[in-house]
Amino acid sequence: MALLNEFFLELPMEGLFSDMAKRINAFRIIRPNVRLTDMGINDMTNPMPPAVTEAMHKAVNDMADNTKLNGNGPEQGYEFLRDAVIKNDFNPRGIHLIPNEIFINDGVKSEIGNIGDVLRGDNTIGVMDPIYPIYIESNVISGRAGIFSGGRWSNVSYMTCNEANGFTPMPPEYPIDIVYLCSPNNPSGAAYSKGQLKKWVDYALKNNTLILFDASYEAYIQSPDIPHSIYEIRGAKKVAIELRCFSRTAGFSDLRCGYTVIPKELTIQTLDGRKVQMNAIWSRRQSIRSGGVSYVTQCAAAATYSDAGKEQLRRTREYYMDNARLMRRVLSNMDMKIYGGEHIPYLWIKIPPGMSSWNFFERLLYCTNVICTPGNVFGPGGEGYVRLSAFARREDCEEAVRRMKDCLG
Ligand code: PLP
Repeated sequence: MALLNEFFLELPMEGLFSDMAKRINAFRIIRPNVRLTDMGINDMTNPMPPAVTEAMHKAVNDMADNTKLNGNGPEQGYEFLRDAVIKNDFNPRGIHLIPNEIFINDGVKSEIGNIGDVLRGDNTIGVMDPIYPIYIESNVISGRAGIFSGGRWSNVSYMTCNEANGFTPMPPEYPIDIVYLCSPNNPSGAAYSKGQLKKWVDYALKNNTLILFDASYEAYIQSPDIPHSIYEIRGAKKVAIELRCFSRTAGFSDLRCGYTVIPKELTIQTLDGRKVQMNAIWSRRQSIRSGGVSYVTQCAAAATYSDAGKEQLRRTREYYMDNARLMRRVLSNMDMKIYGGEHIPYLWIKIPPGMSSWNFFERLLYCTNVICTPGNVFGPGGEGYVRLSAFARREDCEEAVRRMKDCLG
């Protein structure tokens, strides 16, 4: 008899994001002629840059011509891409990695869950709260999250991000086995300083904690003091896996590509105290479970590191960050506290006291016809906030904040 992995039944069948879609649909039925301005977008909206699409065309032609490309590509990724990653993303920051420490993946969303394959089900979990919900949900389905009660999972430590800690929680007094950090953070926009990250690395070294560091938005960092990689911190190679993606930085959301860094120095313990090299375990796991990422996709990713690709993407990112600055400027004149928008194109808005995130979402929808994302969809710590995305057209950003000012200001 085939039996179900019943941890799937622990999940609410529909997430809070689908609640949001239902409320928007209800609005569209009631007011079919109203144009909504969507500031809830979680994604780059501008087209892919020409350097990337040209590389893809060329790669497709290669596949028609070059018989060497028949069959499976390397599971870990083509060396040309792993080399480009190291030379462009790490060496300029004084971080030395070798190609075997880079694993090309089909995006951070799947990889975050995949990593659970090599981790025991009874590890404790720590997440920043609010956070990208996939960190928790992927642990729920592998039985690591415990029991859901009062909006929280019993085996998860929720490290609240709030105004008092600048939305960058510091390590707790007690040990946690696996900690997820995201910097710059979706949704709060906060980014850890080097000093803060050092405290996390020291904590992990002391407690044998594994840090999963999601640096998906690092390319938006605007200040030289903010680390782009956790490996800028001494000792981090012993305790951290870093994940990055091309979807947030180069518009690959549909194409699917990212990479995982697992340094050779990183070890993980068995229950009887043996230390095992995580890189070797992950390579083995990939050889069983991964078919790699397509050649065309990896050529597209490599093109993001060409001179033309870098310049085109720099301009695209600048466009979103200009949107964020514009929105911050207008909204800051209103009676609301605005966070984020400095190192990531998301604004994290503290809503007036006495209103819930859903109340404010509906108010914005019906009063200004602007869609935002209620903070509580990112976890209990997001209650009292909403997120506005600057991944949008300039005209929409201008229009959205103008309407918010007219209606709420
Ligand atoms: N990490 C964070 C923090 C995100 O917000 C998102 C998307 O919203 C992702 C990762 C998804 O990355 P990918 O498109 O590579 O799966």
